[in-house]
Amino acid sequence: MDLKGNFPWVSRRGVVGGLAGASGSLLMPRRAFATGIASAMRLSSTGSRTRFVLELSESVDFSIFRLADPYRVVVDLPELDWTVGNGGGPMPAPTGLIKAVRWGLFQAGDTRVVIDLGDAAEVKGAFVLPATGGTPHRFVIDLERTTKDKFMAQVGPQYRIGKQTPSAQVAQTKPEAKAEDRKSDKSPLNTKKVVMLDPGHGGVDPGAIGSSGIYEKIITLAAARQLKARLEETGRYKVVLTRERDVSVGLTERRELAHDAGADIFVSLHADSIANRTVRGLSVYTLSEKASDAEAAALADQENDADRIIGVDLSRETQEVRHILVDLAQRESMNLATRVATRLIGQLKRETVLLRNGHRFARFVVLKSPDIPSVLIEMGYLSNKEDETALKTEGYRSKLMAAVVRGLDEHFGAIQSARRS
Ligand code: ZN
Repeated sequence: MDLKGNFPWVSRRGVVGGLAGASGSLLMPRRAFATGIASAMRLSSTGSRTRFVLELSESVDFSIFRLADPYRVVVDLPELDWTVGNGGGPMPAPTGLIKAVRWGLFQAGDTRVVIDLGDAAEVKGAFVLPATGGTPHRFVIDLERTTKDKFMAQVGPQYRIGKQTPSAQVAQTKPEAKAEDRKSDKSPLNTKKVVMLDPGHGGVDPGAIGSSGIYEKIITLAAARQLKARLEETGRYKVVLTRERDVSVGLTERRELAHDAGADIFVSLHADSIANRTVRGLSVYTLSEKASDAEAAALADQENDADRIIGVDLSRETQEVRHILVDLAQRESMNLATRVATRLIGQLKRETVLLRNGHRFARFVVLKSPDIPSVLIEMGYLSNKEDETALKTEGYRSKLMAAVVRGLDEHFGAIQSARRS
C-alpha cells in the first residue's frame, strides 16, 4: 500500500474538554485544549515491520507525513495530556525501525509526535482501534522498511495521509503588547520597560535532558514564569513571554515577537548539558562580534528587512549607508547587552556558582536582533547532578530570578540616571 492511502483506518473525533490539567504537575503549563490522555506507548517489531501503538483515553483524528535527513515520520494529533515518558510512565526502548519517539505541543491544540527512524520506512497502515472492555483506544502505525528512492519520492507535508486535526484553527496565544503600545511606553521617563522573556525550547524540542529525565523546556518555562511574576511585582516592567506554554516557537519568530512587543530587552533562559558531568555553573551569553558583523551585512543586503528591523526608512540609501546604519544599531544593542550581562553576572554570582568566564559570546540566533539588547542565561548544567537538582527546585530558581530582577533594575536605573545627567 502506498502513502496515497486506501489502507483501512478508523478515526473518530475525540471528546473535547473535561481533561484539562489532568497530568497535575506543578511545572507543567495549564492545558486548555487537551482532548484526551496518552497513557502508554508500545513498540514491537516482527521481520521488516515495526508497530507503534499509543494508548489513548479518546479516539482522535490524525495525519501523518514523512521527512528525510534524517528519516522521520511526523504524526499530528489533537492536543493530548501525556502520562508517558517525562510525564511519568516509561518510554519504550528503540525497537525495529524506530530509534526514538518525541512529542510536544506544536501549537495550541495540536500535538506533534516525531518518530525517528533508523532506516527508510513506509507507512503500511495507520488507524485507531476503538476501546474494548478494559482496553483503551489504541492509535496504531505500522511501518515497513523501504528503499531510499521510494522514501524520497513522497517526503513532506504535501504527502499527508489521514485527516488534518481541526484544532489548527485555534489561534495561538500571542503576546498582548503591540507596537502601538511601544510608543506610549517609551516616550516619557519612568514608564514601564518592556521585557521579553524567552523560555528556551518547547513543544517537540525538549532541549537538554537531565539525568533524572527532566526536560530543559520545563525548567526554562518555570523559571520564566517566576521571573515574569517578580518583574511585574515591582510595577516597573511590562513582561511578555515568547511562549506561555509547552509549545514550539521558531528561533527567528522569538526575535520577531520581541520586536512586535516593542521590547527594551530580550532575555532568553536556558539550561545546558555537556558530556563532562562534573562541569557546573551559570553563564550569560551575548552575541559575538563576528556573528553580529555577518548579520549586519546580511541585513543590509535585504533592505526591506533592514527597514522593518531598525525602524528607519532605508529605501533611498545606498547599500553602503544601509550597512553602516544597521551596523550602528546593532553595535549599540550589543554594547547595551554587554552592560546588561555584566550587571546580571554581578547579581547572579551572589546567589550561585558561575562558570569560568561567566560572560560568554556566541552566535545564538535568538541574540541577533539588531535593535534590541539581547542576553541568554544558561542557568546551569542539567548534565550535572547538583545543578540539575537545584534547577528543579522552585526556591533555587526563585533566588536566581530575584538576582536577574536586581540586575535589570540596575541596568535600567543606570540608563535613566545617564539620561538625566
Ligand atoms: Zn537550551
